[in-house]
Amino acid sequence: MLTAAPIETMSAQMRGRVVTASDPDWDATRQVFNLATDLKPAAVALPRDQDDVIAAVDYARESGLRVAPQATGHNADAHGSLEDTLLVDVRELQEVSVDARARRVRVGAGVKWERVSPKLSEHGLAGLHGSSPDVGVAGYSLGGGMGWLARKHGLQANSVTAIELVTADGRAARVDEEHEPDLFWALRGGNGNFGVVTAIEFAVYPVEELYAGVMFFPFERAAEVLHAWAELVPTLPDEMMSWASLLQFPDAPFVPEPVRGGSFTVVYGAFLGSETEGRTLLRPVRDLGPAMDTFAMVPPAALGDMAMDPPDPLPFRITAALLDDLPRAGVDELVAAVGPGSGSPLGMVELRQLGGALGRETPGAGARATLPGALSLVALGVPQDEASDKAVRTYLASLDRAVLPYRVGDYANFVMEPTDASRFFDADTWARLRQVKALYDRTDLFKGNHHIPPAD
Ligand SMILES: Cc1cc2nc3c(=O)[nH]c(=O)nc-3n(C[C@H](O)[C@H](O)[C@H](O)COP(=O)(O)OP(=O)(O)OC[C@H]3O[C@@H](n4cnc5c(N)ncnc54)[C@H](O)[C@@H]3O)c2cc1C
Repeated sequence: MLTAAPIETMSAQMRGRVVTASDPDWDATRQVFNLATDLKPAAVALPRDQDDVIAAVDYARESGLRVAPQATGHNADAHGSLEDTLLVDVRELQEVSVDARARRVRVGAGVKWERVSPKLSEHGLAGLHGSSPDVGVAGYSLGGGMGWLARKHGLQANSVTAIELVTADGRAARVDEEHEPDLFWALRGGNGNFGVVTAIEFAVYPVEELYAGVMFFPFERAAEVLHAWAELVPTLPDEMMSWASLLQFPDAPFVPEPVRGGSFTVVYGAFLGSETEGRTLLRPVRDLGPAMDTFAMVPPAALGDMAMDPPDPLPFRITAALLDDLPRAGVDELVAAVGPGSGSPLGMVELRQLGGALGRETPGAGARATLPGALSLVALGVPQDEASDKAVRTYLASLDRAVLPYRVGDYANFVMEPTDASRFFDADTWARLRQVKALYDRTDLFKGNHHIPPAD
């Protein structure tokens, strides 16, 4: 470790704590959402306010440490080694304020969507959250943020209106379209490479209720259901977002009773419109006769956990890809690799519809303006031991091979392993991100989960 000054010099400047390997809560503090990840930073700073963040950034810079900002640890796996790195974990920055009339929200950088969406719903509003209420607004927004309303309203990053952060020189900045617009642009897609964000403000949308739910089919009907779904989605309007998954639930208490321990092929939908119209749009799938159908007119809060993502930390391995439209042969290859009869142990294989606003760049958009492709694929398995870990890896690899011919790109938020971040951007965007990085963080103090090095 390179530290010149002892860690106590930082603690003395902060209201919040600094946790190190000699503290009894070291393991609990550095634990992240994926229990298979073992983060080993030099120390974890837990700032309580912006001044604490400044103290932590100043200390790291002066001590030869790098800084990795973190909010909830849902994408911590991507960091790789955190040797000589101070983890600045903003979990205690928990401010939430909703201006319903202006349709604007301000949150501290540690806030999870679960503290925002229900409040908005009470006001007949919805934010652009994703599938899990446990995910943090900060990391989600800084990486893009693709959720239920994305085909209508785009990525969450482009609904962000202002960001407050501490930059590499220890300066508190507030950036928006008019103030330091290059930095504002880079932050919206560039993750934690430009500073420690302390607060985010964003626009939300009027949604009193919507037609949403899940149709459950027997797992064995995967091919038939996925064929119908894949043919249907290109015909749907931007107001409809539909996902389809192969789910194999564990027999665990966090899984709701009716599906606990069961395996299903499911089709989800969230439609900004009436029940009559929504039913008509989804008819080709519903005509297949789901075993269970939860679709109804619901307030936007119902989207919070509709995807049934695991609410608590667990060990998992994951793969993801952005795909073109899947032709019949593609669906067949996917089902052969991880569907019924394959022996797949994967808990989830999820296809999300893209397109609509996700494919249209709006004026003033950030670095992550759009997502390429027609579908997003994410699959994960939960290994219990070495043997099941091997099986999970094998099936994830065979899924990757099955969809390779249709692969058109990658989405940073879903990539949870160390990688070359240039793969997420086109050449011009990548070059501009590196230039902004050189301008604001020439010495590469900040280590975002997906690293952007400064331009030479
Ligand atoms: C169960 C689950 C469901 C998900 N569903 C969706 C979904 O529907 N749509 C979607 O788009 N993504 C989804 N994701 C991916 C998720 O958006 C990313 O993992 C995201 O990076 C998580 O952000 P976080 O703040 O919760 O996690 P963290 O691991 O805390 O943050 C991830 C990264 O964001 C940056 N960051 C976080 N906080 C700060 C800060 N204060 N200052 C500067 N940088 C910061 C850092 O680079 C950090 O490494 C899901 C992930 C999981 C595990």
